[in-house]
Amino acid sequence: MPSTVLKIAAVPGDGIGKETVPEGIKVVDAAAERFGFKVEWTHFNDWTCENYAKTGTIVPGGIDEGIKILKAYDSIFLGAVGWPGVADHISLWDLLIPIRRAFGLFANVRPAQNLPGVRCPLANKKPGDIDLLIVRENVEGEYSQVGGRIYQGTEDDIAIQEAIFTRRGVDRIIRYAFELARSRPKKHLTSATKSNGIIHSMPFWDERFNAIKKEYPDVKTNQFHIDILCARLVTNPEWFDTIVASNLFGDILSDLAPAVAAGGIGVAPSSNINPKERLGLFEPVHGSAPDIYGKGIANPIGQISSGAMMLRHLGQTEAANAIDRAIAKVLADGIKTGDLGGKSSTSEVGDAVAQSVATV
Ligand code: ATP
Ligand code: MG
Repeated sequence: MPSTVLKIAAVPGDGIGKETVPEGIKVVDAAAERFGFKVEWTHFNDWTCENYAKTGTIVPGGIDEGIKILKAYDSIFLGAVGWPGVADHISLWDLLIPIRRAFGLFANVRPAQNLPGVRCPLANKKPGDIDLLIVRENVEGEYSQVGGRIYQGTEDDIAIQEAIFTRRGVDRIIRYAFELARSRPKKHLTSATKSNGIIHSMPFWDERFNAIKKEYPDVKTNQFHIDILCARLVTNPEWFDTIVASNLFGDILSDLAPAVAAGGIGVAPSSNINPKERLGLFEPVHGSAPDIYGKGIANPIGQISSGAMMLRHLGQTEAANAIDRAIAKVLADGIKTGDLGGKSSTSEVGDAVAQSVATV
C-alpha cells in the first residue's frame, strides 16, 4: 500500500473542462504511480451551468452545501465553469468566489513561459526567454459586491461599484509575492497599480508595498502603472519576473502574460491557494470554450500543468517536476493541439504526457 493518499475533488464543469480534466487526471495518476503515492478522485460531474439552468444553482443543493462537501478534500481540481445562456457572472458568484472566500484562497498564482515547441507571437524570442509569474489578489479589491444602482432605467441612471482594499488583504498578497520572487533565480518583483488615476486604494497598495519591501532587501523591486506595464510586457517580457497585482489588474495580466509568452491561454495553469493551508483550487486559465467543445481538439496542457501545481502544493515536488518535464518534452516533440499549430487530439496529447511522465 502506498503511504500517502491524496483526496481530490474533480470538478470538470462545462464545455472543454469535461475534455481536459480527464487528461489532467490521467497524467496526475501516472505521476503518482511513478513516485509511489495514490490519488483518490471524487467526481462532481453535475456541478455545471446545465444544473444552474435546471435548478437555479451550479452545485446541487447550493454553494453552501458544496463548500461543506469540499472541506473533506485535500484539493479541488477544476476544469471550467460557464456556458452561453447562463449569465457570465454566475460561474464567478455562484461557485468560484464563494469557494475562494470560504477557504481563504487569497493568492491566484499564474505562471507564463514560452515553452519549447510553442510559438511565441514575438518574433525575436527564443524558448526560455520569457518566464513570468503573475500573483493576483483573489478575494477582495475591485471584485466586490459593494455598490448598487440608483434611478435605474431613467435618464439619471447611476451605477456605483466600490473596491475594497484591507491592510490584512494587501499585506498578505504582497508578502507572499515577495516570498515567491525570492525563491526564483531573478529575485525580481514588480508591483502593478494605477495610483495617478485611482487615488485612494492604489496609493495605499504602493504604501504597503514600500513598507514590506524593507523585509526583502535581496529582492529587486519596481512599481509600474498598469497601462505602461501592459505595453512593456509586450515589448520587453523577458525583463520581468514576478508581478503582483490587485484582483482586477491581476486578472488582466494573467491573460496577457500567457498570450505574450505562448500565443494563447491553452497552456496556462493557475492555482488559487492560501500558502499556509492544504486545500487549494487548481484550474487552467482558459474557460469552457463553447466554440470548440465536443470536437476533441481542446488543448489539455493548461489543465495538466495545473495538476503539476496542485501536486507541488501538496508536497509532491518530484512528481510535479516530472509533469513539467513531460509537458516540455511532448511539446518539443511536436505532439500538440491545433491552437499550437499541431494536429494531435486532446487525448493524444494527454496520453503522450502521461507516457512521458513515467520516464522523463
Ligand atoms: P472565461 O470567461 O471562462 O474566462 P472566455 O470567454 O475568456 O472564458 P475561453 O473559454 O477562455 O473564453 O476561451 C476563449 C477562446 O480561446 C475559446 O473560444 C477558444 O477558441 C480558445 N481556447 C481557450 N482555451 C482553449 C484550449 N484549451 N484549447 C484550445 N483553444 C482554447
Ligand atoms: Mg477569460
